[in-house]
Amino acid sequence: MEIIPVIPRGYCKGVVRAINLAKQTAHKYPNTTITMLGMIVHNKYVVEACEQLGIQCVEEKGKTRLELLDKIKSGVVIFTAHGISEEVYHKAIEKGLIVVDASCDDVTKTQLIVKEYLSKGYEVLYIGKKHHPEAEAVIAISEHVHFIENENDLVNLPKYNKIMVTNQTTMSIIEIYKVLEAAKEKYPNIEILDEICNATRIRQEAIEKLENIDCLFVVGDPKSNNSNKLKEIAIEHNIPNVYLIETSNDIKEEWLKDANRVAITSGASTPTYLTNQVIQSLNNYASTNKLLHLKIDIKHLLD
Ligand code: SF4
Repeated sequence: MEIIPVIPRGYCKGVVRAINLAKQTAHKYPNTTITMLGMIVHNKYVVEACEQLGIQCVEEKGKTRLELLDKIKSGVVIFTAHGISEEVYHKAIEKGLIVVDASCDDVTKTQLIVKEYLSKGYEVLYIGKKHHPEAEAVIAISEHVHFIENENDLVNLPKYNKIMVTNQTTMSIIEIYKVLEAAKEKYPNIEILDEICNATRIRQEAIEKLENIDCLFVVGDPKSNNSNKLKEIAIEHNIPNVYLIETSNDIKEEWLKDANRVAITSGASTPTYLTNQVIQSLNNYASTNKLLHLKIDIKHLLD
């Protein structure tokens, strides 16, 4: 069995920066309550590792960042790489919290583009994933930002003369393509600003370049949008067996029975350590026919 680690994979620059900021904050404020507003990245192991550093995470399904902020009474608040709205920022300052902003530059750039077009009188279509914090922050900018999840969401929109369309940074190329085609049909003059970030794009393109793969493992959290998109792209690319797994211990031997070429990738929020464990276990299977049961040492998750 041949093991093929896909390049590039794993942590992107935005996640590395957010993790470094979290570590620096823990070091700088050893006696202060530090709270992360939502999961630092969508990976539960990274959240656990942050808790070991003394950083708590407030997260509740269905609650917006603005609502979650009510749970933080004092100390330091860390905003995640997904970005926040101005309303959240101002509310944190009004509450007297020390703010550490780990918003990724690429997310902030999309917000600035949206604001620029709004200031020129455009309506903005924003393609994203419902309840995702990045989308939430962009929608909060103005009532002239219209959230679109798929082509059907365009049907009831009125005609606009000045209109642009952009998207959440972690969408898949395939997904936005379909919506963009429908948007162009409805609004022939629409301006298109594709904002899939470079890290997301090159990880997706690497999957599309794979050939003759029997089985692909995407290492990532089920809540991670970019990990899920890698899985979807692999399925669209006709890779016969695609599994989204959180750790090496999720691999089942029966998945490998008839596999000759096995590839491994991981989402931008997945620790390198977890992906390396998957590669290690598969290499062991290739040489001994046995998967390894590996313990997860939390201290390596933020490396
Ligand atoms: S996936 Fe892209 S936008 Fe998100 S944190 Fe990474 S680089 Fe930034």
